[in-house]
Amino acid sequence: MPIYNPASLKAEEFINDEEIRATLAYAEENKNNMELINEILEKARPVKKERGYECRGLSHREASVLLACEDPAVTERIFKIAEEIKLAFYGNRIVIFAPLYLSNYCVNGCLYCPYHLKNKHIPRKKLTQEEVRAEVIALQDMGHKRLAIEAGEDPKNNPIEYILDCIKTIYSVHHKNGDIRRVNVNIAATTVENYRKLKEAGIGTYILFQETYHKESYEHLHPTGPKSNYAYHTEAMDRAMEGGIDDVGLGVLFGLELYKYEFAGLIMHAEHLEAVHGVGPHTISVPRVKHADDIDPDAFDNSITDETFEKIAACIRLAVPYTGMIISTRESEEVRSKMLHIGISQVSGGSRTSVGGYTEKERPHDTEQFDVSDQRTLDEVVSWLMDNGHIPSFCTACYREGRTGDRFMSLCKSGQILNCCHPNALMTLAEYLEDYASPETKEKGYAMIERELERIPKEKVRAIAEQNIADIRSSNRRDFRF
Ligand code: SAM
Repeated sequence: MPIYNPASLKAEEFINDEEIRATLAYAEENKNNMELINEILEKARPVKKERGYECRGLSHREASVLLACEDPAVTERIFKIAEEIKLAFYGNRIVIFAPLYLSNYCVNGCLYCPYHLKNKHIPRKKLTQEEVRAEVIALQDMGHKRLAIEAGEDPKNNPIEYILDCIKTIYSVHHKNGDIRRVNVNIAATTVENYRKLKEAGIGTYILFQETYHKESYEHLHPTGPKSNYAYHTEAMDRAMEGGIDDVGLGVLFGLELYKYEFAGLIMHAEHLEAVHGVGPHTISVPRVKHADDIDPDAFDNSITDETFEKIAACIRLAVPYTGMIISTRESEEVRSKMLHIGISQVSGGSRTSVGGYTEKERPHDTEQFDVSDQRTLDEVVSWLMDNGHIPSFCTACYREGRTGDRFMSLCKSGQILNCCHPNALMTLAEYLEDYASPETKEKGYAMIERELERIPKEKVRAIAEQNIADIRSSNRRDFRF
């Protein structure tokens, strides 16, 4: 029987089934223990320091107790602390990105994904470099600066060389005032050598969803193909970090397994990365299974309500306060609105989940990976964020300035975000407004920039940001950053 050890490099030791079951039993036993719950909530709260804030985070056991507690008053307190943490470390900025689907060729048999090998009625498509260029131009014309590239797993059709060529092409396209400044990568688990190549290609975050931490379910849901190897998949982030990638993004596909089990596994995975590599995950994504070509989400027994989904996100926020949290267009405007107040720091906007989708006039459905709930344009998403008091940010400065891994975490803790990330967000928003926004969004955006510039504490930084924004408005000078 594998023994629980967060610092082990063996999947079944750091995601230990026995420890997860013991955690769930402990959470169940203590879900009405108000003394303990109050202590845990107190521990989660951000504490003001001379410079910035400090948060202690929560262990998987502590966070699981909060998740298990059904008292609505406790849930309200969790939501409130989640928002305090979000504002303390990320401010009111929301980073924007879009997915770019390169290829839907796939040799795996994932039961929830329409790209599975046996699906013979979806057209298979892989972008040529010319098509990648065209997609990137379409994305730049919308105003995007940050992409997450997506591909099925197929060593013949989508080998690492193909992915590397695509990354090179994406970074090489400079259309009008546009450019893509950060490419995050969501491709199947691979070798240390390939992760090293991705690092050398200048990627931002390497993202890989665990799908489920439950080994037996994982094996059932991935019956064939290389992804069926639970240990190889679960240990991927350690190989990525060994290959030099220090920003990695975790995620669970909610709906496949019991959410309390997944939640404990996810936090244990974060604890493992911290124990072995000294830095936790850069981001956590919270996708839910959606309808897709031959996939019916109701075929999976463990779908969760919006309320539970929101509570999971808030508990993640309390457990790992410095980790960015991502929500995609799988979710509706309504759910996304709520989630923005309880910890989410990144959203996708104007997304198309089909291969070659951005160059089509109408949204194509034939090669879509899943149905998109939030179908608004990027301009609508930007405008909506501002209406709700969030600053849409197209900033990509951190990793370009070498602030990755624990260096990013230190910035997060230092209280310097108002002198660094905040002006960067405003300058990149000004670029968006000048080059891509509708007249209404532009007007709203500059009013927001004027208000938000006032919040930059250091006079010198404020003056530089003001000058840069004036330059963006009056010239083609772009890409200023602190
Ligand atoms: N092929 C790579 C892999 O297997 O990890 C990564 C890319 S895959 C295009 C991105 C993610 O989409 C998967 O990890 C999965 O969680 C999610 N996904 C697949 N089918 C889905 C569905 N029906 N609804 C929602 N998300 C889905």
